[in-house]
Amino acid sequence: MSTPAHHDTPESVKPSNFLRQIIEADLAQGTHAANRWAGSPGDCAHQGAGAIDPARIRTRFPPEPNGYLHVGHAKSICLNFGLARDYGGVCHLRFDDTNPEKEEQEYVDGIIDAVHWLGFDWRDPDGHENLYYASNYFDFMYRAAEYLIEAGHAYVDEQTAEEMRANRGDFGKPGVDSPYRNRTPAENLARFREMRDGKLPDGAAVLRARIDMASPNINLRDPAIYRIKHAEHHNTGNQWCIYPMYTFAHPVEDALECITHSICTLEFEDQRPFYDWLLDRLAEGGLIAKPHPRQYEFARLNLTYVVTSKRKLKHLVDNGIVSGWDDPRMPTIVGMRRRGYTPASIQAFCERIGVTKDYSWIDYGTLEGCLREDLEAKAPRAMVALDPLKLELTNWAEVFGSADHLEPCSLPALPHAQEGSPERHFSLGREVWIEREDFEEVPPKGYKRLFPGNKVRLKGGYVIECTGCEKDAAGTITKVLATVVPDTKSGTPGADSVKVKAAITWVGVADGLTAEVRLYDRLFTDAQPDAGGKDFLALLNPDSLKVVTAYVEPSLAQAQPEDRFQFERFGYFVADRKDHAPAKPVFNRITGLKDSWGK
Ligand code: ATP
Ligand code: MG
Repeated sequence: MSTPAHHDTPESVKPSNFLRQIIEADLAQGTHAANRWAGSPGDCAHQGAGAIDPARIRTRFPPEPNGYLHVGHAKSICLNFGLARDYGGVCHLRFDDTNPEKEEQEYVDGIIDAVHWLGFDWRDPDGHENLYYASNYFDFMYRAAEYLIEAGHAYVDEQTAEEMRANRGDFGKPGVDSPYRNRTPAENLARFREMRDGKLPDGAAVLRARIDMASPNINLRDPAIYRIKHAEHHNTGNQWCIYPMYTFAHPVEDALECITHSICTLEFEDQRPFYDWLLDRLAEGGLIAKPHPRQYEFARLNLTYVVTSKRKLKHLVDNGIVSGWDDPRMPTIVGMRRRGYTPASIQAFCERIGVTKDYSWIDYGTLEGCLREDLEAKAPRAMVALDPLKLELTNWAEVFGSADHLEPCSLPALPHAQEGSPERHFSLGREVWIEREDFEEVPPKGYKRLFPGNKVRLKGGYVIECTGCEKDAAGTITKVLATVVPDTKSGTPGADSVKVKAAITWVGVADGLTAEVRLYDRLFTDAQPDAGGKDFLALLNPDSLKVVTAYVEPSLAQAQPEDRFQFERFGYFVADRKDHAPAKPVFNRITGLKDSWGK
């Protein structure tokens, strides 16, 4: 594909997709190079924003601030901001706050944080912030509505909601014209102003576009564009008691912001004819310039073991099923952040799943794989005992002259680092914590770890030989006994001439730290917990969180919140963003070392 000279070349060559092809063709043909920016007849949100390169693409991410963003939104964010970045354009962050009742400042702040954290920015090259609120366009939208009325393209309908529903028809049946459809523009204007002035109660009337009640596309059967809602709005307060419908507001917002490619999910495909109809009418009236934005649809992300409906996620929060929007099991961006996912891993995931128009499900393991790939080379290693069992080296005092003697040990923090790795230091003493599963009194076939008479290496330390164990009255093993094995030639411990089949992880009793470790797993037991009318609440995984008190090696004393590690053999962990403190360590499991779920 030829890349026009006037945009930045993507750093790495990304696989093409239908949106990239459209954008590349538009850039090559100069589709958006017409002078729409300077002197746009509408209230172009950019006026006064300085020089704007007309050859730039402009995309937008338009969340409604009625909840926290989730992994599906991450796909849309990476797509819109990613395309703008790759083609030298700009992506706007726009709050689609046309619904006065459900929107809150907390969600606005959460969305801003999430987009920034994912690594994206909404500034123009000249530093102008492209952060917009749909509610800032209410004046323009109102004028646009009056224009449509004056031009005969809209009317005030006073049928009841039931009448309107009945008269809309359905797929096989054309609609029926409203008795109010042929009011004169003057009558409509007067009535619309009464709606605006609070003379009518909620639901008494709506403003409808006047298109075609017989259209095969039901969205074109005179869709409602303004409704009465006596409600306070988080931004405009009590200034308005009529609010624009989303389908009317959205194209207007795009046009005012000079968006070139308005990318949305496939549910909006049937709305596209109205999107174009509306912008064509407004352009005829000189309210906006041409060429106007174009809408393109892609398939939303469906991720297994996850629900991505804000309403359902809110239910989990409101009913205490999870600890909050940022519970590490939530597929929200704040939840994934707290779980330990990195912005790079989420971006890589969105890149990998690609953009298509086909309905499909993505395996949750794909997201975990992206995290592993990101952290494999970056996350320092550490040894921990998650299910600790004490082991005593009974000949320690004899070999080293004192029961309290400590032998310094070390291992590389990043064993695969190209330019050498920093060392982690820890010490071996008479007592260590091992993993309970690393000892068997009667070994199963093929077992290579500790059992009486067998030798293993304590990783980064010495070879030891198991001699037995101690038990409590109930028969539970309370301690494993072993001896340090001196080298056969030199007689000193630790030399490599003793060959063993296994090395086990361990933490010194003398210098290990106590830590709370939260072992998270999938929130649902079903891969598609809310598909096909299933009750997602009946499919919660009872084992989605197990909290253990563990011992961890002393190098973790420096861990700061959000530092990530690979706990050897167990997977990737992060110091909890909220609860971790060096004096009271708390680690969350992000994911295991390999995809073992359901096996
Ligand atoms: P929900 O249905 O969960 O409330 P929404 O789509 O109504 O989500 P918005 O705030 O309107 O939430 O979404 C903002 C943008 O994110 C929209 O452009 C929407 O298309 C996109 N989006 C939402 N969910 C997904 C998803 N699962 N995959 C891809 N994009 C999504
Ligand atoms: Mg929506």
